[in-house]
Amino acid sequence: MLSKEIRNHFPILDQEINGHPLVYLDSAATSQKPQQVIDALTKYYAEDNSNVHRGVHSLGNRATEGYENAREKVREFINAKSTQEIIFMRGATTALNTVAQSYGRANVGEGDEIVITYMEHHSNIIPWQQLAKEKGAVLKYIDLEEDGTLSLDKVRETVTDRTKIVSVMYVSNVLGTMNPIKEIAEIAHANGAVMVVDGAQAAPHLKLDVQKLDCDFLAFSGHKMCGPTGIGVLYGKKELLNQMDPIEFGGEMIDFVGLYDSTWKELPWKFEGGTPIIAGAIGLGAAIDFLREVGLDKIERHEHELAGLAMEKMSEIEGLQIYGPVDPKKRAGIVTFNLEGVHPHDLATVLDMNGIAVRAGHHCAQPLMKWLDVSATARASFYLYNTEDDVDRLVEGLRMAKEYFQ
Ligand code: PMP
Repeated sequence: MLSKEIRNHFPILDQEINGHPLVYLDSAATSQKPQQVIDALTKYYAEDNSNVHRGVHSLGNRATEGYENAREKVREFINAKSTQEIIFMRGATTALNTVAQSYGRANVGEGDEIVITYMEHHSNIIPWQQLAKEKGAVLKYIDLEEDGTLSLDKVRETVTDRTKIVSVMYVSNVLGTMNPIKEIAEIAHANGAVMVVDGAQAAPHLKLDVQKLDCDFLAFSGHKMCGPTGIGVLYGKKELLNQMDPIEFGGEMIDFVGLYDSTWKELPWKFEGGTPIIAGAIGLGAAIDFLREVGLDKIERHEHELAGLAMEKMSEIEGLQIYGPVDPKKRAGIVTFNLEGVHPHDLATVLDMNGIAVRAGHHCAQPLMKWLDVSATARASFYLYNTEDDVDRLVEGLRMAKEYFQ
């Protein structure tokens, strides 16, 4: 387990909710921010704020340096070959939509296939539905195993030589499942398709290496990994990004503008139309520094241990059903569950009365809810600042809720 001291870096955690010390178990929705990130944002606005890339004045140079340094931090964080492959955008949703609208529109035709899975987040479903409808392509789903994992045999059965895009989440935001992305990418490539990875729940918790995974695109959001909201990343292989057209046009992304035609800047800027998310990128850079100082391997281990402990203690509660893989090593720090006879919203409300923040609902994964045959679930998600005490408070809260409703 990581030291409890880590909590002290997160000022928001030091408060009471409804008369109880806050237990924050909703990091899969958004993580809390360490003081280091808050300070980096304050420093930027208090000392360096300016627009980037254009100014010859000192503030402009400082802002540009901060912004582009953040890009290098992201490159290193995911082990991309070049900063030209790192594009800043609003979040995982925007990044996935960009791949669908740029790469997808240019490369998917009538009768071609796009392959996703039943466990995807809406952000990795709807962009492909829209593309399939527009192009007359076929959207195919890889079925899940009973425990909510993916079998490579089923991937092989679903992906064919008509498949142009395979898009899979690395870690499920509901089941916690960690998917075998490298192996799925091999199958996609053997069939001539590109591999898109929704890394929104992976980037905060796992050591990412895009070269090892050999994925073609990777999308993630800063706000789930201790960074600010409003910043995310699209990684793409340079040879693919070079062939792709931007989907947003305007300032910053152009080279030459004529009356009837224009040309674009080189990568990565051709995909960053308008004033970029300067403070967000700098904040994300500070978050990456923080995560690296703690150590991604330690964070991953800590989450496995907490999720394992939570699952063990929660399974002692009669009528409580946990979804997803039983082996905590097969899942990130996400535990999704239902308590028999209690609607998850009511459960989350009672937990909140006790200072415990969990999420209830469909978690932006309605097809998965249908697959699980439930309308909603409750979800506790653990991150580096959570402790064994938080697990105990959750279990105690669940027992109280059970008594209250029965
Ligand atoms: N994919 C997954 C797996 C997610 O959990 C989320 C966020 N809930 C997203 C995509 C979308 O991320 P964002 O809302 O930051 O764009």
